[in-house]
Amino acid sequence: MSESEARPTNFIRQIIDADLDSGKHKSVHTRFPPEPNGYLHIGHAKSICLNFGIAQDYQGQCNLRFDDTNPEKEDIEYVESIKNDVNWLGFDWSGEICYSSNYFDKLYGFAVELINKGLAYVDELSSEQMREYRGNLTEPGKPSPYRDRSVAENLELFEKMKNGEVEEGVMSLRAKIDMASSFMVLRDPVIYRVRFATHHQTGDKWCIYPMYDFTHCISDALEGITHSICTLEFQDNRRLYDWVLDNITIDCQPRQYEFSRLNLEYTVMSKRKLNQLVTDNLVSGWDDPRMPTVSGLRRRGFTSASIREFCKRIGVTKQENTIEMSSLESCIRDDLNENAPRAMAVLDPVKVVIENFTGDAEVLTVSNHPNKPEMGTREVPFTREVWIEREDFREEANKKYKRLVLGKEVRLRGAYVIKAERIEKDAEGNITTIYCTYDNETLGVNPSDGRKVKGVIHWVSADAGLPAEIRLYDRLFTVANPAASDDFVSVINPESLTVLNGFVEPSLKVAEAEKAFQFERIGYFCVDSKDSSAEKLVFNRTVGLRDTWAKMGE
Ligand code: ATP
Ligand code: MG
Repeated sequence: MSESEARPTNFIRQIIDADLDSGKHKSVHTRFPPEPNGYLHIGHAKSICLNFGIAQDYQGQCNLRFDDTNPEKEDIEYVESIKNDVNWLGFDWSGEICYSSNYFDKLYGFAVELINKGLAYVDELSSEQMREYRGNLTEPGKPSPYRDRSVAENLELFEKMKNGEVEEGVMSLRAKIDMASSFMVLRDPVIYRVRFATHHQTGDKWCIYPMYDFTHCISDALEGITHSICTLEFQDNRRLYDWVLDNITIDCQPRQYEFSRLNLEYTVMSKRKLNQLVTDNLVSGWDDPRMPTVSGLRRRGFTSASIREFCKRIGVTKQENTIEMSSLESCIRDDLNENAPRAMAVLDPVKVVIENFTGDAEVLTVSNHPNKPEMGTREVPFTREVWIEREDFREEANKKYKRLVLGKEVRLRGAYVIKAERIEKDAEGNITTIYCTYDNETLGVNPSDGRKVKGVIHWVSADAGLPAEIRLYDRLFTVANPAASDDFVSVINPESLTVLNGFVEPSLKVAEAEKAFQFERIGYFCVDSKDSSAEKLVFNRTVGLRDTWAKMGE
């Protein structure tokens, strides 16, 4: 596969087309606004492809903005990983990186403007009381007793909050909108709160921090964003987004549009849950190859092209749905089938001794891709002793079994036809060695006497092959929707990782980390970027050759 060329069409692009046609906008400016409180996941990739993809296709701009108003949960490690992941996915942001925290001074000024207009007040209700006063979907809220303070008093108290003279949780600044609104978000939302926390960008300069709903719309307006694209759970918040911008002095009116978030079967996508997996050591880190994170997928051997293609195939709509894991896997399989060089590895080895092969190692030349001569060839040593897959040998078998059978012949891929003559077993009855003979006239040609040898199996030289740890991954959870279970940790798949010790052909000694190969007849594998070394090669299975998920339900 190469990525499909056609531009996607979706309702957001239709809105943009209409806005450009009508002259409402001359150009498009989007943004991707992650909160730096975790690593990016495949859901974020959908938003990245949408926002940056639009900027690319319309010759517009897309900002990368860290939405950093929660100092306690955020960290510079996350900022760095997010930048790296956006670049790796093939996108670059316009201009400097933006931080909501860059606007803290301006946001403070806009809060003061709202107070001066009688549209914000300092409240002293506790958060529990606030919840009680807020009412619910069937009952209107009731006003806080502090709602009608004078402008002067509000200004003074807000100043005190800012100067660190107010304890956390004692006072907050609320927008004065409508305690009876049918949109709960408009029932006097908190827009500032006190937090004595050191911020990764602003240090200890601030002890009051603006809330998301107040910050986001203003950040968009300050950056000249034209189309502010977010996920559906912010649909109601759009009223507040517009209210804030309508009531402050700012000369840009971005519009918010919502699309449905990506949900993927057999995994979780909330950063809180992913964080728990990491902090409780249930996975090896944010980039554990079983994680649905961009860094986990990369370490597993996914290409950025396959993730972009996946985002293209799933499309952008307002319908809530859950995508099957097999859709993601078919994107990487299509890519690697086309582009991954071939190699040989034996995951569950049993030894073959070719008794009539007496010379030194022979160097065979094999092609790197069966249909792509331009991908070249490599040298593979053939020796008297080779490893084959334990499951590729049987003492007895019917005609359907096209591998090595005692007394019968099979071809070693890229090499000769061998015949199994006898076997040796250990005390438990396990086969330890298969003694064979080879036909030295069969390199690249069929036996001259017309014998038909149908089966072809893969192998690795026992003398020259390299020992390797092979990590096979399965789905991380045993149920399709782990987030719906009371305790998502209890439905972790105990068999999500299987470690095997096998052998790989010597050319893989210099394989680049994260670049996948097709191990012939087995699947796609890449060198692990963290744990592999010259002393101990470690490979991750990216994906199997075929879709085994579909079969599992049968
Ligand atoms: P999470 O629920 O994982 O914590 P979030 O929405 O809090 O995600 P942000 O860092 O705020 O995470 O997200 C940045 C952008 O990515 C937002 O515009 C958000 O709407 C979008 N996004 C997050 N998750 C998904 C998803 N599953 N599918 C599509 N877009 C997503
Ligand atoms: Mg968020």
